[in-house]
Amino acid sequence: MLLQFFIFHLPFTMVFAQDDTPDIDEWQVMRVEAAKDPFANRDQFTINFANYTVEEWCYPLPGAKMNSPYGGSRHHGGTDLQTFAGDTTRAAFPGEVILSGPYYAYGNCVILRHANGLETMYSHHSRNLVKVGQWLQAGDPVGLEGHTGRATGDHLHFETRVRGRSFDSSRIFDHANHTLIRQIVVVSKQKNGTLKFSSAKVE
Ligand SMILES: [Zn+2]
Repeated sequence: MLLQFFIFHLPFTMVFAQDDTPDIDEWQVMRVEAAKDPFANRDQFTINFANYTVEEWCYPLPGAKMNSPYGGSRHHGGTDLQTFAGDTTRAAFPGEVILSGPYYAYGNCVILRHANGLETMYSHHSRNLVKVGQWLQAGDPVGLEGHTGRATGDHLHFETRVRGRSFDSSRIFDHANHTLIRQIVVVSKQKNGTLKFSSAKVE
């Protein structure tokens, strides 16, 4: 019986294991799982962007100019970044794909969940390059810049979010210089449900 098990099951198990091995550390999976609800048992959490290495972040559309900032009179829920149609959008941080597909006015849209408590959204793609459940490293291709959904012209509508609520991505990225803002960010949940951001000094 035992011999049979080895003969018939071992080769399949090995093939399966090879195909199915995620190229991401188990601790990172656990951290992202824990970040599903960063407010689960507290009203604030902290992200330390000061020590992020080059492997831990990527500007979402390298070489882009910012067309339209967050907020303003039209209550823009994201930041519009533009290069050229078909250019590759990239994962801002390591994380898991939690949505990939047509999504209302966002067109072909991808949402990633990251271990730092954030989610990032990439929309109006001409084509998504990732599937739900896939794990990405920072800088991995996410989609191709396009104008699906409600979009005037090819651009990336990029959102940074906490539990589905968007906030100004320029709190994290310097869109003029395409860099990460090196700081400690404290995200607090207000009584009315809105988010409050403050910066803490880097020691
Ligand atoms: Zn937009």
